[in-house]
Amino acid sequence: MSNREAARKRRKKRLMKKRIKATAMLILCILLVVFAAKGLIGLVTGRGVESSQPQSSPDPVVTPGPTPEMPRIPQPNDYTLLVNRENPLGEDYDVQTRNIVNNGVKTDYMFDVRAVEHLEAMLQAAADAGHPVLIRSAHRTISYQKMLYTNKVNEYLNMGYAQQAAETEAAKWVAIPGTSEHNLGLVVDIVNVGYTGQLDQYFEDDPLFNWLVENCADYGFILRYPKTKEAVTGIVYEPWHYRYVGEEVAHYIMDNDITLEEYWEDIKIGKS
Ligand SMILES: [Zn+2]
Repeated sequence: MSNREAARKRRKKRLMKKRIKATAMLILCILLVVFAAKGLIGLVTGRGVESSQPQSSPDPVVTPGPTPEMPRIPQPNDYTLLVNRENPLGEDYDVQTRNIVNNGVKTDYMFDVRAVEHLEAMLQAAADAGHPVLIRSAHRTISYQKMLYTNKVNEYLNMGYAQQAAETEAAKWVAIPGTSEHNLGLVVDIVNVGYTGQLDQYFEDDPLFNWLVENCADYGFILRYPKTKEAVTGIVYEPWHYRYVGEEVAHYIMDNDITLEEYWEDIKIGKS
């Protein structure tokens, strides 16, 4: 082998080594790029590079079955009758009542026999929670309401008011017979036994009031005349006045912060 030939072979060998090195570097680079890309995709899709391995336990996919459509608004029942100035009770409205037993004591106050047990359960639960209840008013017959109203009208007539004006003034204090919810027999006015104040807005500061707002719907009752709904109900805020409407409707009304008037609006427009 000549020196020239030997030199050429060495060059060739060096060249081969260089090519192998270059090829190895290229493969390394490709591999790096591939892994980097996979890592990026993993970041974007939230799956790691290792997720390309077959997963032993794939995430369960929840497919909603054909569940029956549940109505969002409960249907009216025997206790959802709307009574207000626009919707007076008929003169002949009749309801069977019995005495309310409050915290084990029979009272002179009367309530619709069909719902009185729910009221008694609520009064008992309030007492057990440390808030014994004093009933201030419950069922009033329409004839009793008439007497109250007539007395009030007479007061104004005696003050020199004309008949029409006397009636208008009286209606500000006493509901016109048939337009008071108390005529229904599904209503109580209640305060804490220890509450010494008037039936006014300040009863909302009493712990019984908070308990009632939290729990009354569980017994089928609603706060009938809320503070922010005077324009809807036409009645001033009455934190002491609770109306029975049944548990489902009571929850719908209390949970949505609405009134019985608004419940009936929802029913009319078929909101469901
Ligand atoms: Zn009342």
